[in-house]
Amino acid sequence: MSDTQDVSEHAASIAEEVDADTDEVEERLRNLLEYSVPLEEAERTVRRRYGSEGAEPEDAETADLGDLSTDDTRVSAEAVVVSAGARSIRVDGEDTVITEGELSDETGVISYTAWDELSVEAGDTVRVEGEVREWDGEPQVNIDSDADVIHADADIEPEREPYGVRSVAELKAGDRAVTVEVGVVDSEEKEINGRDGETTITSGTFGDPSGRLPFTDWENRSLDEGGSVRVENAYVNEYRGIPQVNMGGYTTVETSEDIDVSHTPPETDIAEAVEKGGDFDVVVRGNALTVKEGSGIVERCPDCGRVVQKGQCRVHGDVDAESDMRTKAVLDDGTGAVTLVVGRELTEELYGGSLEDAREEARDAMDKTVVTESIADNTVGRRWRVRGNVSVGDYGANMNVSEMEEADDDPADTAREVLDEF
Ligand SMILES: [Zn+2]
Repeated sequence: MSDTQDVSEHAASIAEEVDADTDEVEERLRNLLEYSVPLEEAERTVRRRYGSEGAEPEDAETADLGDLSTDDTRVSAEAVVVSAGARSIRVDGEDTVITEGELSDETGVISYTAWDELSVEAGDTVRVEGEVREWDGEPQVNIDSDADVIHADADIEPEREPYGVRSVAELKAGDRAVTVEVGVVDSEEKEINGRDGETTITSGTFGDPSGRLPFTDWENRSLDEGGSVRVENAYVNEYRGIPQVNMGGYTTVETSEDIDVSHTPPETDIAEAVEKGGDFDVVVRGNALTVKEGSGIVERCPDCGRVVQKGQCRVHGDVDAESDMRTKAVLDDGTGAVTLVVGRELTEELYGGSLEDAREEARDAMDKTVVTESIADNTVGRRWRVRGNVSVGDYGANMNVSEMEEADDDPADTAREVLDEF
């Protein structure tokens, strides 16, 4: 499909059909193909672009952003640029710059992506034209080139104001063109095998008064632990189910005045953490509903740490497995549920004995499930305060637990306190 000659032939035939310049048509077609738009759809898009009559691009109807749906194909709108960031991505071995961010008018907010470096900044009022495409179930505008953005002087009161400095707690995966002022909590260089072979990156944790998040700087700038920085044009993605701040070649980093960093993990509802697509180092309180199968004594591969069955690792085959303990328990706080993944040390506390004690109990009973039952007896039906990272994946939400203690608050008391405030 991306065969050069093939695309040229398709472009030539469309150019003839719509009476347009072949090179221009081919460029538009290649732009779309680079973003993995299927050839047929790319051809339709290019044809529509020129209208059925040929040379002149079709005028899209001016729309309110709040009215757009994924059924729309093309839109023209006047809006305020809420955010605008550039980043370099690699498609088929070539580096390409894309611009992305959000637009807002009185009626709504929509994210946009451009195949080009756009000459816009947050706060600009523009008239844009582009394709409407579906992204994560929502409409998004895809802008072909800088020529499709015209600076306008319309008086728009946007539903969402252009972003200033964002707080760490409000960031979520998918946020683009992000500005933060943060303290560097920890920072270390790592060698990775990246797209250009061995390369050094910096990763660690940022924080501000609202919370903390992991970051990765792909440009390996020196970020000193304990220092404070202003970061502009970063983007947030999900890494292992948790939002992460990414800094690329278009991100700027400068020293800022000292930023206070919260070292108290924020308390959150399970529903809120799941809604954000995961959350870093938070506290939830809820009731343990069940302890899942696979809790208690497990055997792990010494090479990769995977849980093995009958001494067989899925990757390393026959191995000399090592015993470990873990608990997987479902915690519910009334807004939602997560599976707590609890490591050896805390599981030993839940069990009320060491791994050696547990192995001895299992040997005596000739049954490992006695250990699982003891853990369940001590865990289920109790209310817990749990700290850790929440990650959301295909199999639901998990929380990798770093602290777990019985919650001393009584939900009935909490409810009364809330009522007393009225
Ligand atoms: Zn293994």
